Amino acid sequence: MDAGTWRIEDQGVRFFLLTGKDRALLIDSGREIHNAKDIAESLTDLPVSLLNTHSDMDHIGSNEQFDVFYMHPDEEPHYRSQNKPGRLLPILDGDEIDLGGRKLRIIHLPGHTAGSIAVLDVERRFLISGDPVQENGRIFMFGAHRNMKNYIDSLEKLAGMAEEFDELWPSHADIPIKPDVIRRLADGAKKVYNGEMPGSAEDFRGQRIRVYDLGFTVLLCDDTGEGTDL
Ligand SMILES: [Zn+2]
Repeated sequence: MDAGTWRIEDQGVRFFLLTGKDRALLIDSGREIHNAKDIAESLTDLPVSLLNTHSDMDHIGSNEQFDVFYMHPDEEPHYRSQNKPGRLLPILDGDEIDLGGRKLRIIHLPGHTAGSIAVLDVERRFLISGDPVQENGRIFMFGAHRNMKNYIDSLEKLAGMAEEFDELWPSHADIPIKPDVIRRLADGAKKVYNGEMPGSAEDFRGQRIRVYDLGFTVLLCDDTGEGTDL
């Protein structure tokens, strides 16, 4: 992506490697692959730590390779429900990780999952944003651990911080994307939440869901009838 920053693509999801002067950070660990640490160590000689933006299965493929990893504590129940090992290094909103001359700040964005986080590269002004913001993607908002109200609040919070970054690097679909997508997505999600969009009912992997095409991206939500109380 730039000097000391890589993205690795794995079956429709991507994860990132960032290096500073002292250490390297892997942000997520893949979907199908189980050797993300080996990939990282082939790109850098620095010690490699892992951070997960959240614990949906397409972001934790190689977590077994790490004894400890950064994750928001609200994410742990979802992570453990998949029988995944390791010890959490809890990381909270506003926390900073210094890779050595390269400062990263954590932004908690609950909604897609309870412990979803984004990582802001403060100096280089890009945001590794995980799943909540996508362009030409499909954002999964159906199922037990999603919360549409929290998701909208998180988008509003992120829209309010948009002067701090020039680009978002999501885990899926287009990359990079511009910060104005956040505002459009927040407005669209509110319409869905308030029942102002009809959407269309579809069967998806054996589940009945409701699909809302916002034009620039798609929200996949629970099919509760008219979109309220998701
Ligand atoms: Zn994902």
